[in-house]
Amino acid sequence: MRRETKEPQEDVAAKLAAMTLEEKVALCAGRDLWTLGGVPRLGVPPIVLTDGPHGVRLMKGDPGQAANLATSEPATCFPTASSLAATWDVALLEEVGVALGEEARAMGVSVLLGPGANIKRTPLCGRDFEYFSEDPLLSSRMAGAWIRGVQRTGVAASLKHFAANNQEERRTYIDARVDARALREIYLASFEHAVTEARPWTVMAAYNRLEGTYCAQHPWLLTGVLREEWGFDGVVVSDWGAIDVRAESLVAGCDLEMPGSLGRGDTALLRDVRSGRVPLATLDAAVTRILQLIQRTARAREAGHTYDKEAHHALALRAAAEGAVLLKNEGGLLPVSPASYLAVIGAFAQVPRYQGAGSSELTPTRLEDALGALRARVAEAGGRLTYAPGYGRHEDRPDPALIAEACEAARHADAVLLFVGLPEAYETEGLDREYLRLAPAHDALVRAVAEVNPRVAVVLSNGAPVEMPWHAQVPAILEAYLGGQAGGGAVARVLLGDLEPGGRLAETFPLHLEDLPVSAMPKGPRVLEYRESLYVGYRYHDAAGTDVLFPFGHGLSYTTFAYADLALDAERLRDGDTLEVSVTVTNTGPRPGAEVVQVYVHAMAPGVFRPPQELKAFTKVRLAPGESRRVRLTLDRRAFAVWDAAQGGWAVEPGAYEVRVGSSSRDVRARAQAELTSEAPPALRDVPAVYRDVRAPGGFSHEAFAALYGAPLPENTREVPGAFTLNTPLMDMRASPVARFIHARMFAEASRVLGKAKKDISPVLRSMLEEASLRSLWLASQGLLRRPLLEALLSLSNGRYTRGALAILRAALTLGR
Ligand code: BGC
Repeated sequence: MRRETKEPQEDVAAKLAAMTLEEKVALCAGRDLWTLGGVPRLGVPPIVLTDGPHGVRLMKGDPGQAANLATSEPATCFPTASSLAATWDVALLEEVGVALGEEARAMGVSVLLGPGANIKRTPLCGRDFEYFSEDPLLSSRMAGAWIRGVQRTGVAASLKHFAANNQEERRTYIDARVDARALREIYLASFEHAVTEARPWTVMAAYNRLEGTYCAQHPWLLTGVLREEWGFDGVVVSDWGAIDVRAESLVAGCDLEMPGSLGRGDTALLRDVRSGRVPLATLDAAVTRILQLIQRTARAREAGHTYDKEAHHALALRAAAEGAVLLKNEGGLLPVSPASYLAVIGAFAQVPRYQGAGSSELTPTRLEDALGALRARVAEAGGRLTYAPGYGRHEDRPDPALIAEACEAARHADAVLLFVGLPEAYETEGLDREYLRLAPAHDALVRAVAEVNPRVAVVLSNGAPVEMPWHAQVPAILEAYLGGQAGGGAVARVLLGDLEPGGRLAETFPLHLEDLPVSAMPKGPRVLEYRESLYVGYRYHDAAGTDVLFPFGHGLSYTTFAYADLALDAERLRDGDTLEVSVTVTNTGPRPGAEVVQVYVHAMAPGVFRPPQELKAFTKVRLAPGESRRVRLTLDRRAFAVWDAAQGGWAVEPGAYEVRVGSSSRDVRARAQAELTSEAPPALRDVPAVYRDVRAPGGFSHEAFAALYGAPLPENTREVPGAFTLNTPLMDMRASPVARFIHARMFAEASRVLGKAKKDISPVLRSMLEEASLRSLWLASQGLLRRPLLEALLSLSNGRYTRGALAILRAALTLGR
């Protein structure tokens, strides 16, 4: 494994030796929401950690406060991960990483909390806009490039959320159960390359449980896999408030607890170290890693860093265009001429939807809207432009007057540029979507406008796939994703042909929600069975033979490409050999453009169950009109291997493999075969029929999954009074009058603070309050509601009234101590 610049280890050892036990314990938790206190006495400076991932969200003023748009410092808002992944451009992601690092440095930030490498298990996950792909290879490569860029500037990245955090619903409580192969081949693989190749200085442990244990307290995950197998040598930081029992998390390998609880958590840890529950050597190892992190990021805290706002805005614009996916372009409607008569319809053209909500939301340095950019170019070129909003910017319901006005504006135009998508409330951290539809107002607008003028190009702003029931009615669709602060300008340039749409889908757009394997599966209440196993995204749709709206890897260009002369450098391989794939790609059209060459591997007659094909290599090539290039890609052992639980490692099955080279997962342009031999093939085991044929009767049932999983699965029921814990969501404790009372108080308090009626509390806050546990109250109050009091409330909720009352008394007597 590649080593980095030599660390001044002696200095760290000397600092560790000079630290008191109290200082060590204090260094393993945040001083507040965003700061790690350092050890001022020894010259170890405090450091600042800040969200990510698509911009630096540093809050102004008191670091004890949560950031929101009003309080975060302006920073460049780059396109979100969905859009960045659609670029399939490793070098560009590195450039964006460097820019993010430069901004972090200029703001004195040492750790940038990103990237998010969780797999998009379902397009319903409210946080998909922050994640890269449904494919682990693409996701991990994109994350790795982002990390390399950021860390080149001396700022640490924090690869998150490790692992199997694939839905927002009950994210702090849910227990993900994933069979060994899916875990290794899909969910961990999405992090693996980013860890082994890009070597992030921190990794963030997720909120959820995996196989019954909280990720932030998971020895196998944090030490076994991450450190021992993958060679991670950085700091594991908890997601904010993810730790249940600090001693267990430290022993498991979680070095840093964020955000800390104003020192109140330290007392317990001190006690645990003194009693030997946490060995001193474990604490010392964590402290050493944290000291190293502070040292590694020294450059980030040097004074005098600045960055070029204009250059970063231009980079954000280029990235947004490279991530814009031309889904459809019948009759070459796009690009349109600025000298023509254009109707721009849709409020998103004027007030863009450009980032997602939640911890990643930041204040941009400026914001470009497509309407302004289009107007300027049309005026320059002597064309004509009309605009109508078509819907209320935050309204769901169709407004007949606005639709009529839009139709009038569109009727006689040479082309209609129609901006629709998902309003802010549809995609947010903390809340999953329930359906894939656009807002009804947007669907109605597309239909109505397409009736009066067939020359419509729909421009979508959304962070994850949507259904398009009107797709056959419009000749052109451009998926602009959440393009960041320059997204509007980028889209305008793409629509007018000043820039190429460089994107290819990093995820499948299904025709209907019901076509997804995960749409109908339970999302709790306690256990989350990943019953579909390896069949995620295109792996499922290919196996099921489902028609999709737009397949994984799809995206058109304004030019065309031809593939020729596919060659493999060997026809026979031994386990461990690499295989070089080469193919000639020619730009056969009239314009320059970029093609994403995708290599999928298909096992011809596998003994183990496998998705029909999997992406194993890709590259993006830019070609001038008429230009040809011989593209070479290497397939290594992992391109053919599967996880073999019996051997506890990767194993290659002997047999014939087809290498498919294509322009999308469903647009294969050339195929070739190679024969592999292997001395240690994976053990073959019987699996339920559905894993060999996903259309088998019964589907991905609990029973089938249980047989695949091969170990007992916990009951997927709500906890009952008597068994509630500090982690049980209060909404699951409704049987208890005490819990109902606390719950009601929380809602009353929220409505008082917000000055809103309870019914007007936003869905995301409502869901947070519903999912709150007694432990999260401790955190939300920054330790003011002390653990003994919460434990007393727990006893009362569990119906242990005498014990609860006595505990309340004790808690009251110790209050303030
Ligand atoms: C999110 C993380 C984020 C952290 C700090 C958590 O709720 O899951 O992604 O970095 O908050 O804001």
